[in-house]
Amino acid sequence: MSTEVIDLPIDNKLNWVTTSVLIFIHVGAIAALFMFSWKNLAVGLLLYWMCTGLGISLGYHRLHTHRSFKVPIWLEYFFAVCGSLTLEGGPIFWVATHRLHHQKSDQPGDPHSPRDGAWWSHVGWLLVGESKHNNTKLLAKYTPDLGKHRFYRWLNSYHWTLTFVLAAILFIAGGYSASGFSTKAGVGMVLWGIFLRICLGLHATWAVNSATHMWGGRRFATRDDSRNNLAVALITFGEGWHNNHHAHPTSARHGLAWYEFDISWITLKLMKAAGLAKNVRVAKINAPLAEEKAA
Ligand SMILES: [Zn+2]
Ligand SMILES: [Zn+2]
Repeated sequence: MSTEVIDLPIDNKLNWVTTSVLIFIHVGAIAALFMFSWKNLAVGLLLYWMCTGLGISLGYHRLHTHRSFKVPIWLEYFFAVCGSLTLEGGPIFWVATHRLHHQKSDQPGDPHSPRDGAWWSHVGWLLVGESKHNNTKLLAKYTPDLGKHRFYRWLNSYHWTLTFVLAAILFIAGGYSASGFSTKAGVGMVLWGIFLRICLGLHATWAVNSATHMWGGRRFATRDDSRNNLAVALITFGEGWHNNHHAHPTSARHGLAWYEFDISWITLKLMKAAGLAKNVRVAKINAPLAEEKAA
């Protein structure tokens, strides 16, 4: 008989709701590949930019978590709505989890470190029930700024409902044409605008937690394993310059060198020029480490 002790935390039970939703999203994403049309591709790309680009990279991450710039409150809310359409959770959950990640990066207590396994850091951490990322009481401590807003409290509980609303709009918009209504065309647009788009957005965001803590260069000697990874930066609107980001968490600019392509930074510069963003915080490439003041 084996004497090996298996040290599984008692609360690591599979969360069937999250797991089933993620399986369903992946099945729909594969189905989308059989319903290609240029219109579906255009809708998918537009929504990918709005939800993963504006919603996650600029919104949830650089604005809501790190407060690296300021925008009018209506725009802050709009970014949060876009973020919720990725099915990455409500703003309070996302922001708290990410602040915890900066505080404990690759140390015990980090919600998603590859030191606990590559699969764990990519998606495994989301599949278990009562672990830290689901501890509302603990997470609320990290988000007093968001908790003050009734809208964020509401969105945090009902974030997933907006995806259903968007799916209904896409089904109707995709189905109607001059020749009448086609259910197949409506379903095709939902598969591209919801399932495939969400699936790719999830893996892109998850790659920041997994790949950019494993593969890539390290400009700054941060206390964690963060890396700068061009491939991840390209699919996440600039989030792949993750070693720069861990070194300077409150900088709105992540690609610090001219050759580090950072679409969110370019977008932010345009927003600033249009008078929509102010108090934009930017780290210099040769600045000393600022990670201790994380989040
Ligand atoms: Zn990180
Ligand atoms: Zn961050």
